[in-house]
Amino acid sequence: MTACDDMPPLLPGQMRGLMMDRPLLIAPILRFAAEFHGDTPMITRSIEGPIHRTDYATLHARVQQLANALIDLGIKPGDRVATLAWNTWRHIELYYAISGIGAVCHTLNPRLPPDQICYIIRDAEDVALFFDITFAEGARAIAEGAPSVRHFVALSDAAHTDQLRLAPKINVRAYEDVIGNGAPVYDFPEFDENAAASLCYTSGTTGNPKGVLYSHRSLVLHSYTLSANFPIGVDETALPVVPMFHVNAWGVPYAAPMGGASLVMPGRNLDGPSLFKLMDDEAVTSAHGVPTVWMGLIATMRAEGRKPHALRQVLIGGAAVPEAMLDAFESEFGIEVNHAWGMTEMSPIGVINTLKPKLQTLPSDAQAKLKLKQGRGVFGVEMRLVDADGRVLPHDGVAAGQLQVRGFAIMRRYFRSDSDATTDDGWFDTGDIATIDADGYMLITDRSKDVIKSGGEWISSVMLENAAMSHPAIAQAAVIGVPHPNWLERPLLIIVRQGDVDPTLDDVRGFLADKVPRWWLPDAIAFVEALPLGATGKVQKTALRSDFAAYRLPEEAERAVGA
Ligand code: AMP
Repeated sequence: MTACDDMPPLLPGQMRGLMMDRPLLIAPILRFAAEFHGDTPMITRSIEGPIHRTDYATLHARVQQLANALIDLGIKPGDRVATLAWNTWRHIELYYAISGIGAVCHTLNPRLPPDQICYIIRDAEDVALFFDITFAEGARAIAEGAPSVRHFVALSDAAHTDQLRLAPKINVRAYEDVIGNGAPVYDFPEFDENAAASLCYTSGTTGNPKGVLYSHRSLVLHSYTLSANFPIGVDETALPVVPMFHVNAWGVPYAAPMGGASLVMPGRNLDGPSLFKLMDDEAVTSAHGVPTVWMGLIATMRAEGRKPHALRQVLIGGAAVPEAMLDAFESEFGIEVNHAWGMTEMSPIGVINTLKPKLQTLPSDAQAKLKLKQGRGVFGVEMRLVDADGRVLPHDGVAAGQLQVRGFAIMRRYFRSDSDATTDDGWFDTGDIATIDADGYMLITDRSKDVIKSGGEWISSVMLENAAMSHPAIAQAAVIGVPHPNWLERPLLIIVRQGDVDPTLDDVRGFLADKVPRWWLPDAIAFVEALPLGATGKVQKTALRSDFAAYRLPEEAERAVGA
C-alpha cells in the first residue's frame, strides 16, 4: 500500500487554482506608487504657466482628499464625471479619485465641436464637469446644452477662477478649494474589478460618437501590456504628449506609477519648442504621441542641432509613422522609434513594433521597412484577418483582410447599445485592412471604415458629404483622405457639378463654414463627371481612393494649417 492510498479522492471542483482572488482595481496603483516610489517626481507645465512639481506620495494624499470632496459633492458609485482637460497632475488626480470611489471618469475631447460635446455629455449623463480654465468657452456651451451637469469645477485656484462666469445660475468652484475641503484620509473601497472606471467616446465610426466604457480590470491588464512592450519603469522619465482625453493617454497615467516611472506632463504646450524645452529641462527619456506632434519636435531639434539630451525612445501611434519621421528620429538624432497601432475600443494598444533579435542584424533599409509596419502582436491581443466571405486568411505577409481582434482590454459593446459590437464568434472588427507576416508584424494597408484621420482626430466623411450636397451647385459629393505632410491625411472633396458652373474652393469652404468644424473644411476640391457606384448604388470609396491614389494637394493646401 502506498501513502497515496490514504488520501481521500480529489473531487473535480477541488482543482480550481488556490490563489487569492484580489480584484484588479485602479486606486491601488497609486497607493503602491506612494508607498514604494513616493518621492518620484511628477512635473507639469501648468495651465497657469509655471512649472509645477509634485510626487507620488503627495499626489496620493491629494487624491484621498479629492475622493472625499467628490463624495461631499454627492457623487456616487457609477456616476459619470466629465473632464475637459489637458495633461496635468490635476487631471491625473481626477483619474484616480473618480474611479477610486467607484464613479466613472469621462474624458471629453475639447477638439470636438461644442454641439458634439453636448451630445456626448447628454448621452453619458455626466453629473459634474472639471475643466481647465482655457476651456471656459466649452464649459459655457455645456452649461447651456447639458442639463445633467450639476457641478462645474475649474481646474485651478480661486485667484484664477473668481472672474469665471459660465451662465447666470451656474456656480463655478475652484478645484483647489474643492480639494481643500475634502477630509485628508480616504480608504479606497474594494469592489468588483469589472465595474466601469473610465469612459471615452470615439468618432472613428459612422454616425454619432459612441462611448467605450473601460473596466478597472481591463485598465489594469492593459497597463501590464504597455509596460511589457515599452519601457516605463523606474529608469524612465516619461512624457505623454498623447492627451489624457485620447483613450486614457494610451494607459501611461496607470503604467507609469505601476512601474515607478517619473511623469512629465506637458499641459497645453504641445508645440515643438515647448516640448523640446520641457524634455530637455526635465531629462525626459521616453515620450508617447501621434505623428503630427513629432513634426514640430523634429523641426526644433533640427533648429537646435541636437535632441533633448536624455530622450531615448518614442512611441508613435494613432496614425501611420511616415518614413521621413522614422529616419529623422533614428538616423539624425539617435532616438529609437516604436510604431504602434490601436483603437479607442482596444484601450488602445493593439500592436507595438519592436524588432526581434534575429531581425536586428538585417541591413538598415530592411529594418526601416519593418519598423514602418504598425507593429508586432502583444500578449492579450489576438488578431485574425478575414476576407469578405468571413474566411480566415493566412499570416503570410501577403494576404490582406479585415483585421479582427479579441482580448481582455477590447470592447465588447458600446455604451448604451443593446447588442454586442462583435462578430457572432466574438471578434471585434477594427475597420482596418491589414496583412500579418510570419513573424507577427501587422501592416495596415487600407481602411474599410469611411472616416479620415487628420492630425490624430477624426473627420466624418459622411457628415462632410451631406453638408456639401446641400450646396446648390453640387449634385453629388464624396470625401476621401489624401496625404498631407503635417496632418498626414486631409479631406479631398470630390464633386459632381450641378448646373454649368464649377463652384470655387472658397465658395464651398464659405458654404460649409457654419456647418462643420473649421478644421474639417476641405483644402482642395476635385471635379468628376460621375462617382463610381457599387451594385447597391453606394459610392465605392475604394475605387475613388484608387482613382485618386496619385493625387497630391496643391502646394498652398499643403502649407495650410486648417486641421
Ligand atoms: P482611435 O480609435 O481614434 O484611436 O482610432 C483608431 C484607428 O486609427 C485605427 O483603427 C486605425 O484606422 C488608425 N490608426 C491608429 N494607429 C495607427 C497606425 N499606427 N497606423 C495607421 N493607422 C492607425
